[in-house]
Amino acid sequence: MKRSKIKTIKQEKKAGEEALVKGWVRTVRHQKNFSFIELNDGSTLSCLQIIADSSLPNYTAIVERLATGASCAVAGILVESLGTKQAIELHAKEIEIIGECDSQHYPLQKKRHSFEFLRTIAHLRPRTNTIGAVMRVRNVLAFATHVFFQERGFIYLHTPIITASDCEGAGELFNVSTLDKEDPPRNKRGEIDHSHDFFGKLAYLTVSGQLNGESYACALSDIYTFGPTFRAENSNTSRHLAEFWMIEPEMAFADLSDTMDLAQIYLKYLIGEVLIKCPEEMEFFDRVIRKGTIARLQEMIDKPFQKISYIEAVEQLAKSGRVFEFPCHFGCDLQSEHERYLCEEVYKGPIILYDFPKAIKAFYMRENEDGKTVAAMDVLFPGVGEIIGGSQREDRHAILVEKMDRMGLDKEPYWWYLELRKYGSVPHAGFGLGFERLIQFVTGMENIRDVIPFPRTPNHAPF
Ligand code: ATP
Ligand code: MN
Repeated sequence: MKRSKIKTIKQEKKAGEEALVKGWVRTVRHQKNFSFIELNDGSTLSCLQIIADSSLPNYTAIVERLATGASCAVAGILVESLGTKQAIELHAKEIEIIGECDSQHYPLQKKRHSFEFLRTIAHLRPRTNTIGAVMRVRNVLAFATHVFFQERGFIYLHTPIITASDCEGAGELFNVSTLDKEDPPRNKRGEIDHSHDFFGKLAYLTVSGQLNGESYACALSDIYTFGPTFRAENSNTSRHLAEFWMIEPEMAFADLSDTMDLAQIYLKYLIGEVLIKCPEEMEFFDRVIRKGTIARLQEMIDKPFQKISYIEAVEQLAKSGRVFEFPCHFGCDLQSEHERYLCEEVYKGPIILYDFPKAIKAFYMRENEDGKTVAAMDVLFPGVGEIIGGSQREDRHAILVEKMDRMGLDKEPYWWYLELRKYGSVPHAGFGLGFERLIQFVTGMENIRDVIPFPRTPNHAPF
């Protein structure tokens, strides 16, 4: 007989049919002449209840050795359940114990464990209801991302993970080097000489695929990337990882308002897909992790995101009468306390902030007519803050050169980026979505470390 996943059994099979399932035991209860086994195979949140009675030839072994955490295969016949918790259960005709579990040492006991504790057993935590559900939602969001962009003619672009041009925030880069750590080659001044390094210079792990993405958008029209990015920022918050996944669409012949429209329909589409494809998981998150999650998501789909210029936002903060830790005036970078106040208390929903002062934004963002602001936008979500950052790119060669000079940037590594503005330049725009921040919002999970399989944060990469 072919193995069935428990999800398929629950959705498609009926009482009277035979079935073979394989999975891990969540709990076992032994009665006098029979046992109840709750089996989970990760295909769905709920377990399949198995009834094993003493007529099984290896019943004694089952009672003695089939403990929580053990893996087994069960063949039997599906019967309607008398219990109220499930519609169907499996009456075992044959049970094979595949891998025993030393229940004395198995760290996942029946009680509820803290997420902090579960991070110390990251290799086993996918066997818990919460982490299992998060990863199924993550999977649906990833797949939906591809469907969304593919249906709109965006080309999936694989941008490099290793880069040799240190773009943007120099302090946040992880170095990539193969020089001898004990005795690296040095120049006359005693500095490490990276001309002998693997790439002939010091290289880094990418913080964004955007600049490379722009070059392909300026040829293929619409592209998107979906890959890991790295930030060596020492921020121990519940919203920052050292390694996270980013989705970066880039569109040619497009401006800032096109990115706002795209961001909005994309986010709404993703949320809609999760509500359709993960009803069991979402009901669980709503009940166990954060009350009202489903209603919040539904509202997100129904209501348009509010668009607020940076200047309006600063005015709102000024007249709020609130005392913020970091007072805000025109020119300040909004802190998460400001973002949360705007999102959660003033506008009570997602907002799109746009037209930021040029001094606080990256060099590649297109300067507005006012000479003070750039065509940038951030999408802010209640609870998580910034989820998307995007902009229209500066497509005018002379203005970009002047700006880089003013900012004291070395133009040499960007020669190719500048050439895109010389040979058939077009207005283009795009954004970056932090995938884990989105998963946090959708699931209601407090900490970003619990929505990625193996989190990397300062002082922490043990698995
Ligand atoms: P923040 O101000 O929250 O640190 P940022 O301005 O550094 O974000 P961008 O450089 O614009 O963010 O990156 C694009 C998106 O990537 C952000 O909107 C956010 O969703 C996500 N992101 C940024 N840094 C991290 C991080 N360290 N861990 C997880 N996601 C991140
Ligand atoms: Mn940051």
